[in-house]
Amino acid sequence: MPDRRSADDHDHATCIEDALAEAETICAERGARLTELRRRVLELVWTSHEPVGAYDILSRLGGDGRRAAPPTVYRALEFLLEQGLVHRIESLNAFIGCASPKAPHSGQFLLCTACGTATEIADAGIQAALVKAAGLAGFRPGHVTIEVKGLCRRCAGGAAAEPHAHAH
Ligand SMILES: [Zn+2]
Ligand SMILES: [Zn+2]
Repeated sequence: MPDRRSADDHDHATCIEDALAEAETICAERGARLTELRRRVLELVWTSHEPVGAYDILSRLGGDGRRAAPPTVYRALEFLLEQGLVHRIESLNAFIGCASPKAPHSGQFLLCTACGTATEIADAGIQAALVKAAGLAGFRPGHVTIEVKGLCRRCAGGAAAEPHAHAH
């Protein structure tokens, strides 16, 4: 999968636009209602490529001058999860936008402990190996999210890397 969206330097506004446009298409196809609030919550999740917690979303909504109650935001996130538009990063209790929400898939994430970015990879081989190994243990996997912590290309590169440019 091309990971244009996790590039060090990119026009992140394009990521957000693409994600919102795709969400609209997907929801229209499925007859799911992408309400204004759900759409705004998705946009806030996509603010960056760092996973964002529900409380951050709440406070950003507050910045809009909106009074959204926590349960409303949780329900919106629940909807986005069901539609595969976001993933939950369990270890961080946070959410990240999915770059390829059309086909259902388990999330595989590379989490940078230095800069906080999350890069989604989609390796069918990893998924297959996991299901096979679980089966050998007599275990039937349900929801699978793989979270790998370490250093992203930019952070691992240290001083040799390009300046920490956030194109946001
Ligand atoms: Zn995904
Ligand atoms: Zn990093």
